[in-house]
Amino acid sequence: MAADEDTTDERIFEPPGPNRSSDALDEDEGEYAELADDLRSDVAGDVRFDEYSQILYATDGSIYQARPAGVVVPRSVEDVRAVVRIANEHGTPILPRGAGSSLAGQAVGPGCVVVDLSTYMDRIVSIDPDGKRATVQPGVVQDDLDARLSEHGLKFAPDPASSNRATIGGGIGNNSTGAHSVRYGITDAYTEELDVVLADGSLIHTREVVVGGDEWDAILARDDLEADIYRTVRRLVEDNADEIEARYPDLKRNVSGYNLDRVVFENERGETVVNLSKLFVGAEGTLGIVVKATLSLVTTPDTTALALYCFDDLGDAMAAVPEALEFDASAVELMDDEVFRLARDSGEFAEYAAPIPPDTAAALMLEFDSERHADLEAAVEATTRHFHDDGDAFEVVEAYTDEDQRDLWKLRKAAIPLLMSLEGDPKPYPFIEDATVPPAELAEYVRRFEEILDEHGTSAAYFAHAGSGTLHIRPILNLKADDGIRTMRAIADDVTDLVADHHGSFSGEHGDGLARTEFNPKMYGPQLWDAFRELKSTFDPDWLLNPGKVVFRDDEPTDMREHLRYGAEYSSIEPNTALDFADEGGYSQSIELCNGCGTCRQTGSDTMCPTYRATKDEVATTRGRANVLRAAISGELPADELYSERFQREILDLCIGCKGCKNDCPTGVDLAKLKAETKHQYHQREGAALREKLFANIDRAAEVGSALAPLSNVATKLPGSRALGERVLGIAADRKLPTFTRETFEDWFDARDSAVDPAAADHGAVLFPDTYTNYMYPDAGKAAVRVLEAANVHVELPDDLRESGRAAYSMGFLDRARDRAEHNVNVLAPYVERGWSVVFVEPSDAVMFQDEYADLLDGEAVSSVGANAYGVSEFIDVHRLDESIDFDAPSASASESESLVYHGHCNQKALNRDHHAVGLLRRAGYTVDPLDSGCCGMAGSFGYEAEHYDLSKSIGRILFDQVEASDAESVVAPGASCRSQLADRTGGTRPPHPVEKVADALERER
Ligand SMILES: Cc1cc2nc3c(=O)[nH]c(=O)nc-3n(C[C@H](O)[C@H](O)[C@H](O)COP(=O)(O)OP(=O)(O)OC[C@H]3O[C@@H](n4cnc5c(N)ncnc54)[C@H](O)[C@@H]3O)c2cc1C
Ligand code: SF4
Ligand code: SF4
Repeated sequence: MAADEDTTDERIFEPPGPNRSSDALDEDEGEYAELADDLRSDVAGDVRFDEYSQILYATDGSIYQARPAGVVVPRSVEDVRAVVRIANEHGTPILPRGAGSSLAGQAVGPGCVVVDLSTYMDRIVSIDPDGKRATVQPGVVQDDLDARLSEHGLKFAPDPASSNRATIGGGIGNNSTGAHSVRYGITDAYTEELDVVLADGSLIHTREVVVGGDEWDAILARDDLEADIYRTVRRLVEDNADEIEARYPDLKRNVSGYNLDRVVFENERGETVVNLSKLFVGAEGTLGIVVKATLSLVTTPDTTALALYCFDDLGDAMAAVPEALEFDASAVELMDDEVFRLARDSGEFAEYAAPIPPDTAAALMLEFDSERHADLEAAVEATTRHFHDDGDAFEVVEAYTDEDQRDLWKLRKAAIPLLMSLEGDPKPYPFIEDATVPPAELAEYVRRFEEILDEHGTSAAYFAHAGSGTLHIRPILNLKADDGIRTMRAIADDVTDLVADHHGSFSGEHGDGLARTEFNPKMYGPQLWDAFRELKSTFDPDWLLNPGKVVFRDDEPTDMREHLRYGAEYSSIEPNTALDFADEGGYSQSIELCNGCGTCRQTGSDTMCPTYRATKDEVATTRGRANVLRAAISGELPADELYSERFQREILDLCIGCKGCKNDCPTGVDLAKLKAETKHQYHQREGAALREKLFANIDRAAEVGSALAPLSNVATKLPGSRALGERVLGIAADRKLPTFTRETFEDWFDARDSAVDPAAADHGAVLFPDTYTNYMYPDAGKAAVRVLEAANVHVELPDDLRESGRAAYSMGFLDRARDRAEHNVNVLAPYVERGWSVVFVEPSDAVMFQDEYADLLDGEAVSSVGANAYGVSEFIDVHRLDESIDFDAPSASASESESLVYHGHCNQKALNRDHHAVGLLRRAGYTVDPLDSGCCGMAGSFGYEAEHYDLSKSIGRILFDQVEASDAESVVAPGASCRSQLADRTGGTRPPHPVEKVADALERER
């Protein structure tokens, strides 16, 4: 019974567009103006040939960079066909692209029309759970597909580490795979049928075609490109059968060259079939553009277990790999001591490295699953006996719970981010990072590899998919210097010789691209190289599809040293900065930290990057912003571009400063900080607009609003007042403005007596009267005082504090922010010296003290005030103050307690400090569902700005959907802006701050 679940009409996401002004999109088309015009007249999707778009698509996750002619974002198969036809007419190369997370430069193409299939062509067309098949458009992100498949206990088996942003089309282009290739093999095994646009614009459907059958005869009777392709493929495979047998390595993974060894085979009925799908897989977009794919699926194991064996010698760990494969593991992964050292030294991953003994030189991690092992403990016992009791492993770490296994996988997957976040130059670069040899030969291969690196005066870490013979080895080089580039080429030459000696593959995972294509003749020999070229000429007679990848022409050889992102000529300006960039190695190094991995395109978890999630537009990713920033500091754009109005509007203003990237970007690109600095420099040169000044001075404006309340509140409700606000100040007429309170929080506090005598208090705390709490939403502040005093904290509000400077900082008024920081630190330092803490109701202000102040000021005082600054829930949770409160929960039974869904603040998430409210609320008797949500979209003033209103609402809707998907009765959020945004969901009712709910629990007690 094939229960097809047809989801054709359901978009995973409907992008509202990026808020980019159309005039800017039409600029700078130069030599491509005619091509752009022709494309615009025939394509319904977006056509972008402006300079920024060229820069945005000039890189991928690799070491390469080359500007394309422009970008088309097609809406349909017909759009793709039109692009191919028109580009053909203009003789312009074409490059299909998904997330652009490739590591070998195959998603970069000089002078190409990039066809970005990730934005609109992202539908899951159908799922057939019984037949274990799914049909999808190429732009579907693999994790999104897997999330849908999990409802049926199914998954798409290849699992690249980049699956949270990598598209199925890109996975097909690269023949992607991941840690479980030992069990499942790679993408070609799961690609059954494809719809492909060929080089002449025709559309074909690939599937198993029986040689000599009716279908075969019908196709070959035609005089078209498809018929030519079938004829040539069949002949090339037949004529080169011996060479294919001899030259293709016998490995679980080989993604070098074309899959001539897999395209013709015998089916289950013993018939010889041609399935061109297998040839398009791994072709890196050089043979056609996939517009629909039917994939076969596997069942997801119910349970798994991990065993990690620690060795004191890398060679011993390598020698154990072939034995590990005897135990039917679903993954066999390696990590070496460099990975552990980096993890231990990092704030983020240290906890995951804790179980690994310090003298571990290398560890092998084996996964067992319930599909093959009825008794997982018995499976682990057997390997432990073999490797530990009777073998060389001196320690074993076993993990059975989901949490323990997740932690070990996090440690394993941390390797690349940890290596890439090494500061400055030289850096570990990918260019022979996925060479693969038979697992039995790994020990000897690694020994010789180390010698090669030694001979070239460098070193590397060793990790990854040992069970399949693939090790990720990234030599540490300086590619901004000629000798670094020479060394890279020499290492690549030596390593490919070494791999050839082992009859391995130059690429077992990441593909040929610009890095490895030049070595394919070495791997496959002259006969198969000629066959590859004939194959390419047949599919793509003018060599317009992603030229120079997989195969090249003699007159246009691919050279791994060309089109480097950096290179010896690269230089960048280092402006005098108002913020301290010493930790990042400087302003330009902080931009260059972006390696293009594309994690900021993830859509399913974490905070980064909300503007991409809402637009699905590359310009709205952290990567996009970093790429254009890099172009501006390195002379690729005119000298003063950084300070141009266009740069502010299109690149900086759309970053909402949520700080998501600071924590979620694997290398820690901190765009919020870069934006504040660059905006500041812009203001210094060009001045600032009235609205910017108003928002930067929001505290003063709020003070006036409060003093004039209720009149000030009535004024904003008068007919026409909002329209006037939009016309004069650019404040969105549709956005409800905050209501000021006549009695400020400070007034209320001053008028009362402290409930806790300072002499008898357990703690002293200054409660910071932030702008929102003080003038607009004092209830949260009052609740904070009630809860703190219930915990025997003596609370004070010094009357000489000023606003935190958060608003000024976000708008790039750094002198004003520094002034506020200096003032507040001076006021607070004496309290902190007496052992008091500084407590905040508003998370963004807390984070200002905890993080940004240190970039604005030097000295002991700012560090100690920052170290003693807390969000209110954080303060109570860290010091376990609520233990002294006898919460009388509504009921001891969790089932009867009020349920809350918690949306944490993105600024606090960036510092991993957002979780405290959850523990506190639970202890106060609530059931809490913490959301893995991003930013709410308000981001201080952003949501009030007329030109950003729609984008703000789109980001907000993502949060609304998450809230609605929760079963909880009501929502809580500590951020004042988040509560304003969430109020729109319920027609105006603002949700409470978590501390208000904690205060409610106190009330119940009384
Ligand atoms: C940190 C990191 C970890 C990674 N880990 C892995 C890993 O574990 N395993 C692995 O295999 N890879 C890995 N990669 C590489 C890469 O992410 C994957 O290969 C991924 O599947 C590529 O998907 P994409 O959407 O980014 O494709 P893109 O990079 O956009 O494109 C990949 C190739 O496919 C072609 N292409 C794209 N769409 C189409 C289409 N519709 N039709 C025809 N050709 C098309 C492109 O021209 C290009 O040649 C990693 C990358 C990074 C940065
Ligand atoms: S900004 Fe960070 S996450 Fe995004 S591509 Fe660059 S390095 Fe990767
Ligand atoms: S600060 Fe937020 S919006 Fe800006 S780039 Fe980083 S994640 Fe994206």
